[in-house]
Amino acid sequence: MPEPTTDPLPPATSPPLTPMMARYQEVKAQNPGALLLFRMGDFYELFYEDAQTAAKVLGLTLTSRDKGSPNPTAMAGFPYHALNGYLQKLVRAGYRAAICEQVEDPKQAKGLVKREVTQVVTPGTLTDDALLDPRESNFLACVAPGKEVCGLAWLELSTGRFWVMDVALANVADELARIRPAECLLPEDSRQHPVQLAMSTLAPSVLCERPAWCFSRENCRQRVLEQLGVLTLEGFDLDGDSIGITAAGALLEYVRQTQKSELSHITRIEPYRRGQTLLIDEATRRSLELTHTLRGGQREGSLLAVLDETVSPMGARLLAEWLSNPLTDAAAINRRLDAVQELVHDGGLRQALRDLLKDAYDVPRLTARIATGRASPRDLVFLARTLAILPRLKAKLAGRRASRLSDLEGRIELCAEVRTEIEAAIVDEPPLLITDGGVIRDGYHASLDEYRDLAKGGKAWIAKYQAEEIQRTGIPNLKVGFNRVFGYYLECTAAQADKVPADYIRKQTLKNQERFITPALKEYEDKVLRAEGQATSLEQELFLALRTRVAQYSPRLRENAEILAEIDVLAGLAELAVQQGYCRPEIIAEPALDIHEGRHPVLDRLMPRGHFVPNDIQLGEQVGRVQIITGPNMAGKSTYIRQAALLTILTQMGSFVPATSARVGLADRVFARVGASDELGKGQSTFMVEMTETARILNAATARSVVILDEIGRGTSTYDGISLAWAVTEFLHDAIGCRTLFATHYHELTQLTGSLKHAANWNVAVREQNDAVVFLHKIVPGAADKSYGIHVAQLAGVPSDVLERAKIILKTLETDHVDETGKTRIPTRVVRKREKQLALFGPVENHPVLDELRQMNVDTMSPDAALRELQRMRQLVGQ
Ligand code: ADP
Repeated sequence: MPEPTTDPLPPATSPPLTPMMARYQEVKAQNPGALLLFRMGDFYELFYEDAQTAAKVLGLTLTSRDKGSPNPTAMAGFPYHALNGYLQKLVRAGYRAAICEQVEDPKQAKGLVKREVTQVVTPGTLTDDALLDPRESNFLACVAPGKEVCGLAWLELSTGRFWVMDVALANVADELARIRPAECLLPEDSRQHPVQLAMSTLAPSVLCERPAWCFSRENCRQRVLEQLGVLTLEGFDLDGDSIGITAAGALLEYVRQTQKSELSHITRIEPYRRGQTLLIDEATRRSLELTHTLRGGQREGSLLAVLDETVSPMGARLLAEWLSNPLTDAAAINRRLDAVQELVHDGGLRQALRDLLKDAYDVPRLTARIATGRASPRDLVFLARTLAILPRLKAKLAGRRASRLSDLEGRIELCAEVRTEIEAAIVDEPPLLITDGGVIRDGYHASLDEYRDLAKGGKAWIAKYQAEEIQRTGIPNLKVGFNRVFGYYLECTAAQADKVPADYIRKQTLKNQERFITPALKEYEDKVLRAEGQATSLEQELFLALRTRVAQYSPRLRENAEILAEIDVLAGLAELAVQQGYCRPEIIAEPALDIHEGRHPVLDRLMPRGHFVPNDIQLGEQVGRVQIITGPNMAGKSTYIRQAALLTILTQMGSFVPATSARVGLADRVFARVGASDELGKGQSTFMVEMTETARILNAATARSVVILDEIGRGTSTYDGISLAWAVTEFLHDAIGCRTLFATHYHELTQLTGSLKHAANWNVAVREQNDAVVFLHKIVPGAADKSYGIHVAQLAGVPSDVLERAKIILKTLETDHVDETGKTRIPTRVVRKREKQLALFGPVENHPVLDELRQMNVDTMSPDAALRELQRMRQLVGQ
């Protein structure tokens, strides 16, 4: 989080605070660490340092409140209707904002208007659609540090989904990388705790320290029980004494403090079990760019962006969840694949489902707003429109072969009565706010209709009354007007005032006009105004009652939301498979990988169609568990090994894969040690990072894991590097026995296959054409015979002199690279000058052009003349 603003109390020399500023100080002190947006009339104002911060972050003009005083108070503000836009900017910049509203009508206030903080908006507790990305989940996480095991809880407040787990200290970073919280709470007394290492993988603005008392075990347990309305957590398959529950309780406490509203949509807590998902550690997740790119952290360019053919926001969020949590249970994966397959084959069904889903609104978020009493009239109408889709969706899914599809069909609850009620009560296009009126349909409630008629009729009566009075008085310009001070009145020009009848009561004399009231006018005015007021409050009452009734359906609505999201994901994966020519992977029992014409899903999509060169991948007991892939840089080695990891992940999330056929033995973990790391900023050398990640793999991989390694040992001297790579490969082959793809440009490693039974050499095919090299990107059996590094250097534009010299050195090294004393033998150098450039600045020191240049008075020359001179001089030097 950016530095919390600490507002010093005004200097002692200042005049005493006004009551309002005293209240400001009080509220500010109750909300440390948040910018205070203080409502004053139609504006939100910020003071002191908050004002300075807001001026910087929001681009507001900094002014001062008491300009005359020696210590004016800094102040900045914006109109109330611009709140959402400014909140968005503040939250994106990592700030928290406490919104302090006027909680009573200023007209009715005796003395100072009462002001209270109604919500603290923080990055992890956003619920407003305007502040949220519809296609991304927004998680608040909480870590309760323990000795060896930590508690971890995470919540999506905008939908009410809530998870908890106990996790080994060493795995906290991996779990946080999976969750990607927008905000992560931890106790302030944990600064020395080893869990801080895991925290350092999160951006500092995400972290939020909480007082240690919020993490008291017993209080936390009680808070969780209270929230879920239960006496024990056994029903949720949770151990109430686990440290995860401490994290869950501390998280709920924070949400309660910041939201100051009902959290009735949080009714479930789900235990998260690591064993049921494919484990992907933090480094692997990052370097495979599953949901966000390595550089820039964008969704665009990630695997997720390429896979996403969903048509609804909830579908997009669920797809990200599936990709972040691939499964390990073959039956569960096959159920997903069966469903995708049926939707691939039945194009009509797929299209029909996707067309229906396009009209669905974000039901999980809508439902949460309904449950927490924040839903607008529009939200209810959107819910009804989405419910209207369900009967057609259910009918389309009826009788499907894939069990997952028929399960979903069976679980859909039409909630027809909710839809009928909403449709009967609310107009088709209601205003955003209930206070705007005109929300409830005519004919829904007899008294409301009566009030409305009266209000409308009363106005008609006034028009009629005006006409009658003109007749009665003979004053043609007599008219009925209205003002806030004395309501309806009759008005005529001063010149006509002596014509008014005796029952007119004079109310006001203006320069040219006289204003009167009459008992009849007042009587009708009363009726009209009362009827309008009654209509407004009855309308609100009816709306709130309806919303409360709908809220009782929350669990069923939430279930429907999950079904809609899942149908969208399955149909989206099927659409992707059809569009991109993916095939269904076959899940096999043995730990093998057998892929024909596989493609890297992201590169394949980014390149023009048909340009990506497909490759086979064969790993297993028979064909070799360990593949050593040699070939020049830029040939496509890391693309190939990443492809193997990505296709495994795609399979285990239940997706088809970019290949013509694929047989995949399920993995328990995928490890990737690939690509340049961007950890240098954290003070670790590239080599140190590389070795730390390698150590983790060697310690954690099992025989069912898939490991991809790219250029291990590159960050140290050649011999060190080769030796380490050699030993790592042996260890993975002998001690672990996992599927391993090892890309390297060290030729020496190809000799490993001589001693390792299950290792095989592969290389990237290269075609040489008249001294030029073409990378074919095709992986073929056998070891590479050359490294082509010099060719790559040539492609990169390294000067030809350097390339020639490198070729000579290479030849010597390849034939006879140490002398009698053991020193590397480097052929003697023929020193050559950089001829072209020396031609101007070496032998031509006394060239006449130089004299001319020295004598030229540039200050007095026109640009034209200078240009002509320049051209002439160029001719003189032969250019
Ligand atoms: P290496 O790891 O051997 O240095 P990369 O895998 O990084 O090489 O690939 C370098 C570039 O070659 C990629 O960015 C991509 O543009 C291209 N490339 C790699 N594999 C393929 C392929 N199978 N088909 C087409 N282009 C490829």
